[in-house]
Amino acid sequence: NYRARSAFKLIEIDSKFNILKPGDVVVECGAAPGAWTQVCVKRINAAGTVPGKLQGKHIAVDLQPMYPIEGAHILAPLDFTKLSSQTKVTELLDGCLADVVLSDMAPAATGVRELDQDQILTLGYSVMTYAQQISKDGAKLLIKLWAGGRVKQLENELLLHYSRVKVVKPPSSRQDSAELFLLASNFRRNT
Ligand code: SAM
Repeated sequence: NYRARSAFKLIEIDSKFNILKPGDVVVECGAAPGAWTQVCVKRINAAGTVPGKLQGKHIAVDLQPMYPIEGAHILAPLDFTKLSSQTKVTELLDGCLADVVLSDMAPAATGVRELDQDQILTLGYSVMTYAQQISKDGAKLLIKLWAGGRVKQLENELLLHYSRVKVVKPPSSRQDSAELFLLASNFRRNT
C-alpha cells in the first residue's frame, strides 16, 4: 500500500533501468505524499530492515508537510529551489555523495502551457545544478518534466555532465499527459 499511485512510475522506471540498489545514497525532491520515498527506502534498504545488505540513506524534500517514513530523512515543508534548503540537504548528507538524485517536483499547474512549462523547467534546472555539487562519479539523475520545446535544452545541458540521457515515459504515466522523465546516467565529476 503506497501513499500514491505515482509509486508505480518509479517502480517501472527502476525495473527497466536499475536505478536503486541497497546501500545507495538518494536525494529526492518533490517527495510528498511519499510514495516514491516508500519505494526508495525499501530498494536501498534505508531502514536497514534487510540484514546482510548494505544500508542506504534517503533524504526527501517537499514544499508540503509529509508524514514520517521509517528510514527516510524528511525535510518538509521546504522549498528546494532555495539555497538555504539545499544547504540543509548537504548538511544531512554529512560528507556522503549521492548515487541517485530524483525529482518528481511539479508546480501547481495554471493551465497556461508555456508558463507551466517554464516553471517545471526552472525546478529541473535547480535540481540539475544541485546534483552536480553532491553527486558521486557514476551517479544517476531522474527529472520529471512536461513535454515542450525547452526539454531538449535541458537534455543537452545534462549531456555536459552525464554520459547518457534518455527520455522516459513509464507505462503508468497517462498517455494523454505531457509528463515525461529525463534519466541521466554516469555522472562525471569535474567535467
Ligand atoms: N513523487 C511523489 C510521490 O510519489 O508521492 C509525488 C510528487 S508530486 C507529483 C509533486 C510534488 O512536488 C508536490 O508534492 C509539490 O509540493 C512538490 N514541489 C513543487 N515545487 C517544489 C519546490 N520548489 N520544492 C519542493 N517541492 C516542490
